[in-house]
Amino acid sequence: MSEEQTPTNEDATSVPADDTPVQPDPEPEPEPVPPPPTGETITWEPQTWYSITYACRTPGCINENQVRAAPMFYSNDGQLKNIRVVDASDDACHKDCVILTAAKLDPQPIEE
Ligand SMILES: [Zn+2]
Repeated sequence: MSEEQTPTNEDATSVPADDTPVQPDPEPEPEPVPPPPTGETITWEPQTWYSITYACRTPGCINENQVRAAPMFYSNDGQLKNIRVVDASDDACHKDCVILTAAKLDPQPIEE
């Protein structure tokens, strides 16, 4: 290789323009909202029978924090405001209990 490199007189400023459009940053995906950390998240189906466990959380109630079970519990229309267990036994607080677990009955009881 004995060829001399000849300086070129090309205009070094004639750099082709970069016409690549600037891609805007894609919208970040919204973070999924995690379920509340307290208790088990129960998915209620409407008009469905469940076996549940529940407990009263009223301070001072005779049933406070006693986990009880209801082998047959109806979900009504599936709306949380209509899915309630009232602590209605004698001398109890007659307030809503917290539903801890719910297992869908399989098979569902046959309604008469
Ligand atoms: Zn109670």
